[in-house]
Amino acid sequence: MSMPQIILLGAPGSGKGTQAARIVELGYNHVSTGDLLRAEIAKDSKLGQKLKGIISEGKLVDDQTVLDLLKANIDLQKGAYIFDGFPRTIEQAKMLDEQIIQTEKAYAIYLDVSFDELVSRIVNRRTCGKCNEIYNLVNKPPKTEGVCDRCGGELVHRKDDNEKTVQNRMDVFKGQIEPIFSHYEKKGILRRVDASINPDTTFGQIKEMVGR
Ligand code: AMP
Repeated sequence: MSMPQIILLGAPGSGKGTQAARIVELGYNHVSTGDLLRAEIAKDSKLGQKLKGIISEGKLVDDQTVLDLLKANIDLQKGAYIFDGFPRTIEQAKMLDEQIIQTEKAYAIYLDVSFDELVSRIVNRRTCGKCNEIYNLVNKPPKTEGVCDRCGGELVHRKDDNEKTVQNRMDVFKGQIEPIFSHYEKKGILRRVDASINPDTTFGQIKEMVGR
């Protein structure tokens, strides 16, 4: 049986990046619009310079820019994808259905975590600048401060992972997610997963869902 496309939904800090890395081991391709946007900023292109301001304020980039970037970086011939950080608006959800997923089987998986837990996870999050491994200073600290256990890369604190921007990103998330939920609920493909316990439990539920 072919693997369903996975639309991974969850607030910032709900564990999307961590789960995506594990789902990739099941044979999935991973695409994160946040990563694509950050890569564009790193190039320091004209577009990148515009994006930098928007992202540092925790606001959303416009739908068409994100869709174009996404389309340029995926190839469904390669197999199933995990869509991470996309859709963020109901318009994006429709674009994803109509222009990308079309007739493919898909699940929208929502990683459900309480608000207080989310803020604490994000403020303590550190990411490897080289291999993108994710750490948490409280729950999953690196063996040596500031250094990735896996590849020796330098751990960075994302600029938008501070308390002020986080509050804004949460507000944006809450404002946008409800219509997206009902969109997928109506289509009968929304699946809620309790993502507050630990990464293994969350992954176990996802694995079962996609039949692996
Ligand atoms: P993320 O890494 O998914 O938390 O995204 C970081 C930031 O990139 C967000 O706060 C937005 O500013 C921007 N971003 C990522 N994905 C999207 C999207 N699908 N639509 C609009 N903006 C996005």
